[in-house]
Amino acid sequence: MDVSHILDPLNDAQREAVCAPAGHTLVLAGAGSGKTRVLVHRIAWLLEAEGVSPWGVLAVTFTNKAAGEMRGRIEQLLGRPAGALWVGTFHGIAHRLLRAHWKEAELPKDFQILDSEDQQRAVRRVIRELGLDENRWAPREAQWYINARKDEGKRPSHLQAAGDPWLKQMIAIYEHYEAFCRRSGLVDFAELLLRAHELWLQKPDLLAVYQRRFGHILIDEFQDTNTIQYAWIRLLAGDSGRIFAVGDDDQSIYGWRGARVEHIQQFQRHFPDTSVFRLEQNYRSSGNILTAANTLIANNAERLGKNLWTEDGAGAPVRIYNAFNEIDEAHYVVDSIRSHVDGGGRYDDNAILYRSNAQSRIFEEVLIQQGIPYRVYGGLRFFERQEIKDALAYLRLASNPLDDASCERIINQPPRGIGQRTLAEVREQARSGGMSLWQGLHHVLEHRTLNARALNALQSFVDLMERLRSDIAGLALAEQVEQMLHLSRLREHYQKEKGEKGRARLENLDELVSAAQVFVNDEVEDGEVQMDELAAFLSHAALEAGEGQAAEWDDYVQLMTLHSAKGLEFKQVFVCGMEEGLFPHKLSIDEPGRLEEERRLCYVGMTRAREQLTLSHAEKRRLYGEETWTRPSRFLAELPSECIEQVRMNGSVTPSAAEPVAEQVDDDAAMQLGQRVIHDKFGAGVVLNYEGGGRHARVQVNFENVGTKWLVLEYARLQRA
Ligand code: ATP
Ligand code: MG
Repeated sequence: MDVSHILDPLNDAQREAVCAPAGHTLVLAGAGSGKTRVLVHRIAWLLEAEGVSPWGVLAVTFTNKAAGEMRGRIEQLLGRPAGALWVGTFHGIAHRLLRAHWKEAELPKDFQILDSEDQQRAVRRVIRELGLDENRWAPREAQWYINARKDEGKRPSHLQAAGDPWLKQMIAIYEHYEAFCRRSGLVDFAELLLRAHELWLQKPDLLAVYQRRFGHILIDEFQDTNTIQYAWIRLLAGDSGRIFAVGDDDQSIYGWRGARVEHIQQFQRHFPDTSVFRLEQNYRSSGNILTAANTLIANNAERLGKNLWTEDGAGAPVRIYNAFNEIDEAHYVVDSIRSHVDGGGRYDDNAILYRSNAQSRIFEEVLIQQGIPYRVYGGLRFFERQEIKDALAYLRLASNPLDDASCERIINQPPRGIGQRTLAEVREQARSGGMSLWQGLHHVLEHRTLNARALNALQSFVDLMERLRSDIAGLALAEQVEQMLHLSRLREHYQKEKGEKGRARLENLDELVSAAQVFVNDEVEDGEVQMDELAAFLSHAALEAGEGQAAEWDDYVQLMTLHSAKGLEFKQVFVCGMEEGLFPHKLSIDEPGRLEEERRLCYVGMTRAREQLTLSHAEKRRLYGEETWTRPSRFLAELPSECIEQVRMNGSVTPSAAEPVAEQVDDDAAMQLGQRVIHDKFGAGVVLNYEGGGRHARVQVNFENVGTKWLVLEYARLQRA
């Protein structure tokens, strides 16, 4: 087999790593030196040169976006699909395993995933049930405690308070929270990893099956694996699996979430026959950017140390913009992007990076004013927005009546007269009977433990959910979503919210329908995991990082936190808010270890840039509703002056001349009453009724075999007979 197309586009050091001999491999190298490229080419090389089956390869990446890109690049090199290859994040892979082996993992078949906000609500609920004061026992802190223990592989039974009253209470909260999750069939993110690890420990036969299968395990961004992930990998590799890990100690930025850079050192101890490769040529950034980043990171004491160089010329100097305030900063950045595009560039050449999610708002405002398309990654991700979570909760509860978190969320959303007292009674019945809220609800209705008004309100909720469950059965996913939006009256509810916000919420609900429409259930592709489309979609929504906001082929400016920018690259990068207290973050300033992590984060941000890097700071900033005078970040002072160009404050606020883009609604699909139609699932029928228009037009059809159904015209596969 000719593998020159795999090896030729590599330099010597990269090629050596790609063709590394039997045993384990560790590639340690700086930003932009081709680690991810090496990993991709390694997989292609294994398949083509070593004749390894795609079925025997597992690749772990840090984000879903990276996983998608990686698969694409591998398939491009191979010139064919690599279906059975597993590529995913640790969480995604753990999820997939648990779906396939829910029985062995002692989970209900239709377990649901609790995202971080849901988890916090659940913890709050547990704290209340324990009769604790929320001000003293903050849900966030307890959540953090629980996740940190899970990341270390510890259950409540492994923990001892040893006379420490704070610990004793935390362990009690953890214990109750665990019981709550078990009762409700819920699994949080940390639990995914912990269960997957326990699955290996408790089911050695199953582990052996996967050990035989995955002869090759490849891990990108190895410096950011946490204890449980590393332990999971070690078990899976066993004695025969070959690990190929690539990483950069200078880019370890998840220490606060339990990632352990020491795994890089331990790796060579745990796996003695490891070949180590170093890559030193940077292919991403021009000279000035690279020199600036190298100089910055040299201020860290704790490093393995490396030397990165580029063949590229110096390129443009690194720009530092001194803004008057955050509005001026945003205008400067957006104007720079605009002139890049006016000069023939693209919007998606540009990334705006920031330390804190709250910084995105002002950029979003200016971008909207100027009619520039953009997309925010991370932060309040699409699937984490209130209206989307409401909508998903309806679907979750419809598919899993034990899901208390969802039940609690929507029982009175939109408001249907179920007040706090009624809810408290339902909770109490559920708690004392050891039942789910949904069962508690039925119990209250049966035993009529509340007044008639409250009972009516509860009954209407039960009726609604039952109708929803029966109506969506058998529908295509997008139709299920549409139907849910209709029955729940969520659209009407959010329509009442005035202004930009209400409009955005409605757009998001529409976007959810589109997301359902294009959703491809790839979890089932190798036939191991049996999951219906809705369940797969709901899991996807919980695991995915806001990738549903804009279509793939759109051209848009990308906004994200520095943390989510890891591994990515852009022609132009703006790192904003370079101010003491914001970046480095105020919580890290007094702790040398954390300050170094902030500096690594800055290094990650700077090394995302290929051609132009701009760093900006504002003299005055309004954030979290407070206005403060600021000082420039110490990181700016650490940069070498010969690579830098200071841009003077322009102070002016450019008026915008945005033209609103009219939405085009195609309304040609009107159906006549009495029209005979054919549906590809339900067969022949007659149109009885018709309502709405445009995207939300619905028809009622009386089908000969399945009776009457309401369908959304746009998604229903209806043909005139
Ligand atoms: P990071 O540490 O940021 O994750 P990385 O080490 O994974 O970076 P890559 O993303 O693999 O680096 O590569 C950086 C850029 O350099 C990519 O655009 C990649 O295609 C390019 N590149 C890497 N190696 C070569 C090479 N030998 N020839 C040409 N381009 C290369
Ligand atoms: Mg990479």
